[in-house]
Amino acid sequence: MADIYLYNTLGRKKELFVPLDPPHVGMYSCGPTVYDYAHIGHMRRYVGDDVLKRLLGFNSFQVKHVMNITDVGHLTSDADTGEDKIEKSAAEKGKSAFEIAKFFEEQFFASTDALNIGRPNIVCRATEHINEQIALIKKLEENGYTYITDDGIYFDTSKLKDYGRLAGGKEGIRPGARVDIAGKKHPTDFALWKFSPKDKKRQMEWDSPWGVAFPGWHIECSAMSMKYLGETFDIHSGGVDHIAVHHTNEIAQSEGATGKDPVKYWVHYEFLQVDGQKMSKSLKNTYTVDDVKKKGFDPMALRYLFLTAYYRDPLNFTWKSLEAAQSALEKLRTQVAALGKQQPRTTISQEKNEKVDEYRDKFIKSVNDDMNTATGLAVMWEMLKSNIPSEDKYDLAITFDEVLGLKLGEYTAPIVNIPQEVEKLVAKRENLRKAGDYRDADKLRIKVEEKGFIVEDTPGGSRLTPKR
Ligand code: AMP
Ligand code: ZN
Repeated sequence: MADIYLYNTLGRKKELFVPLDPPHVGMYSCGPTVYDYAHIGHMRRYVGDDVLKRLLGFNSFQVKHVMNITDVGHLTSDADTGEDKIEKSAAEKGKSAFEIAKFFEEQFFASTDALNIGRPNIVCRATEHINEQIALIKKLEENGYTYITDDGIYFDTSKLKDYGRLAGGKEGIRPGARVDIAGKKHPTDFALWKFSPKDKKRQMEWDSPWGVAFPGWHIECSAMSMKYLGETFDIHSGGVDHIAVHHTNEIAQSEGATGKDPVKYWVHYEFLQVDGQKMSKSLKNTYTVDDVKKKGFDPMALRYLFLTAYYRDPLNFTWKSLEAAQSALEKLRTQVAALGKQQPRTTISQEKNEKVDEYRDKFIKSVNDDMNTATGLAVMWEMLKSNIPSEDKYDLAITFDEVLGLKLGEYTAPIVNIPQEVEKLVAKRENLRKAGDYRDADKLRIKVEEKGFIVEDTPGGSRLTPKR
C-alpha cells in the first residue's frame, strides 16, 4: 500500500491519507439537487469522486461510498430565502414535486453511467430520511444550539467557538452573502427546519414536534452521513461552492449534536467553466451529456478531458478541447486494443524489466499525489511510446486504467493494417479540408474508397474503416 496524499480543505494543505479504521474508508459525497437536468459541470465533480474511489481501491482500501439526493429543502438562495427549487420546478412543469425529483435523478444517473462513474454503495434521499433529520434537530435543541422564529428553527452559530473554520475563519464565510431575515440572531445563522407557509400548500411537508414543516438544505447531509458512516468518517467531498455555506453548516450541525469533528478529509472540486464563468443553470451556459452525444461525441471523451486537468484548477470547457480529448482517447483505445492482440510473452531483458517497474511506480506516484491524473495520463503515453515489450505495455495500460476508468480493456474495434499510401491520402485530404478545399478533398475521398477504405469526418478527426 503506497502513500496517498490528499489536499484537505480543512488544513489547507496536502496531507498523508490515513483513514480512521484502515483498510475501511467511509466517504460521503454531496449529491445533486434534482430539480433540473444535470450538466457536464456536475459530471466533472463526480468523475473526481469516481477517480478518488478507484484510487483508494487500487491502493487496497475498501470504500463505503454514500451519496445523498437532495429532493427537498434546497432553496433558490443559500441564505434560507426564496423558493424550494423542486417545488418551483414542479409548478413550472405542471408535475408533482416527487415526479420532478424522480425524473431528474434518473437523468443524473444516466449521465454518470455514460461517463463510467461507478454508482455509490448507498444512495439516500432527503425525503426518505425525515425522521433522522427531526431526531438530529431535537438533539441540537437539547444541546442548546437552536432557537425558533416565525420562519422555522434556526442554528445559533455564535454558540460554536470555531464556526466557519472550513472556509478559513470569519472572513471566508461570506457574511455578505447571508441575508438577515426576520428573527435571525446572526447573519450566519441558518435554518434547520422551515415552517410551511400559511398562505400556500406545499407538496412536500411533514408533521413534526414543531408543526408542519420541511427540512433546511444542510440538515439532510449531517443526518444521513451520520446514519450510514457514523459520527466521524474519513472523506467528505463536494464542489468548491459548498465550502462557505453548506459544508460549514454541516460541520456546525454534526459538531453541535455529537461534540465531535465529523470529517477527517474535506475534498473540494473546482468548477467546469464556460468563458471563465462557472457552468451553471442560473447563467444559462450549461450542456448536458445528451448535448455532447448529439454533437457526435463519445461521452467518455468528456471523462478523458476531465482527467487532463488537476481537479483543484478550474477547467474551461470548449468544443475544441473536447475534440482534442476525443481524438486522444480514440488513439489510446486503438493502441491498447492493438497491443491486446499480441502473442504471449517470451523473454524480457533485465533493463526492460526495470523500465516496466519504473513506469508502474511513476504512475502510482502521480495519481497518489492528490489525484494527479494529468501526470498519470502523461506516464501512460510515455510508456506506450517506450521500447518495453508490447505485452507489458498492455498489462500496464490496463492496470493504469483501474484508476483512470477509460474502459481501455473493453474496446474491441477491429485492428486493421492501413497501407501507407492510404494513410498519406487521408492526411492530404484532412489538410485540404482544413484549408476549405472541399472539392479536391472529395476527390481524395473517392481515391481512398477505391483502395478499400471508407473515410468519415468525426469531431475527433478522420475515421477510417475498411469497406465490407
Ligand atoms: P447541485 O445540484 O447544484 O447541488 O450540484 C451538485 C454538485 O455539483 C455540487 O457538489 C456542486 O458543487 C457541483 N457543481 C455544480 N456546478 C458545477 C460546475 N460547473 N463544475 C463543477 N462542479 C459543479
Ligand atoms: Zn451535502
